[in-house]
Amino acid sequence: MSEFIPYGKQYITEADIEAVTAVLRSDWLTQGPVIQQFETALASKCHAKHGIAVTNATAGLHLACIAAGLGQGDRLWTVPNTFVASANAGLYCGATVDFVDIDPTTFCMDVDKLAEKLELADKNGTLPKIIIPVHFAGHSCNMQRIGALAKQYGITVIEDAAHAVGGHYKNQPVGCGQYSDMTVFSFHPVKIITTAEGGMVLTNNDALADKLQRLRTHGITRDEHLMTEPSHGAWYYQQIELGYNTRMTELQAALGHSQLQRLDDIIDKRNALAEQYHTLLKDLPITCPTVLDDVRSAYHLYVIQTDNRKQVYDYLKDNKIGCQIHYIPVHLQPYYQNLGFKKGDYPVAEAYYERCLSLPLFPQLTAEQQQRVVATLSQALTTAPV
Ligand SMILES: *Cc1c(COP(=O)(O)O)cnc(C)c1O
Repeated sequence: MSEFIPYGKQYITEADIEAVTAVLRSDWLTQGPVIQQFETALASKCHAKHGIAVTNATAGLHLACIAAGLGQGDRLWTVPNTFVASANAGLYCGATVDFVDIDPTTFCMDVDKLAEKLELADKNGTLPKIIIPVHFAGHSCNMQRIGALAKQYGITVIEDAAHAVGGHYKNQPVGCGQYSDMTVFSFHPVKIITTAEGGMVLTNNDALADKLQRLRTHGITRDEHLMTEPSHGAWYYQQIELGYNTRMTELQAALGHSQLQRLDDIIDKRNALAEQYHTLLKDLPITCPTVLDDVRSAYHLYVIQTDNRKQVYDYLKDNKIGCQIHYIPVHLQPYYQNLGFKKGDYPVAEAYYERCLSLPLFPQLTAEQQQRVVATLSQALTTAPV
């Protein structure tokens, strides 16, 4: 029997293991020097001024929303074709969440629909405070247009780049913040680089960076300028707002920092594997992903579209090929249906969901494994009942 091929998988080297064990032998398991090394290295790699590491991207999105001042009575817009965390961040803050449908080529936020919806919201006095575009599968959204619209209406943009660390848009790294206020990365094991659980918020804004740093550690400050009275001594701190404990550990930061050294190789490998899929799949009756000219995808996912998706999925699973579905539209989750959303609200995301299938894609995927995925997919397409 052939081995199981997962759809995604972490890529851990001996150097990673050494970096983590070095931390275990050091004096600091948390709040030490490595976290800052990781933050500085990733921010610099992405041409951003500040990086704030957190426990996961979900916490990063939440803190980014608080830092942007999101609260009760405010609105946050994102896309239905994403993981639930992008939308939940708004609900955590007591805001109302709404969606903009995706475009059928990149499966990212449809900027024409965004422009229309903003125009209407402006007339009705219901503009959102925050927009969260999602760089689906590692493909950057049309940030230039989103940034221009956000500027026009005075809206904060938080990029959900959970899929896209190492990706590029208009020859700039995702995270550079040219068209947004903050960018959030995820380091979950299936993502591009991992810290087991982990995330980072990048920003070029000093005030937002300060606020994010406080929010991840209880809302506490040691900065005398922010205190209500003179410091009592070197031990003194004040809690000046309500924060959380969403700090990353030194072990995780060491793993992330070590993984970061291979980011370019990882992205090259993912792009090469995607190219190979394009070639191997070109005669099959499926739709392969499209990458726009001004984008270099991080290729977190290789998503094909096919009729008979359920049969194809089951056939692949039965033959030990791990595929996945990204995503069940968020507005169709029962929790969101209870908030008033219903089937038919976002037809492009819903139609896409019926046909999408993510094939195995990770740096260590071998040519033989890839050929087996394609051969099995080809059999699935010829044997699946219509
Ligand atoms: C994985 C993911 C998240 C959440 O990341 P965590 O680090 O697991 O919290 C958010 N948004 C998108 C699009 C994701 O894929």
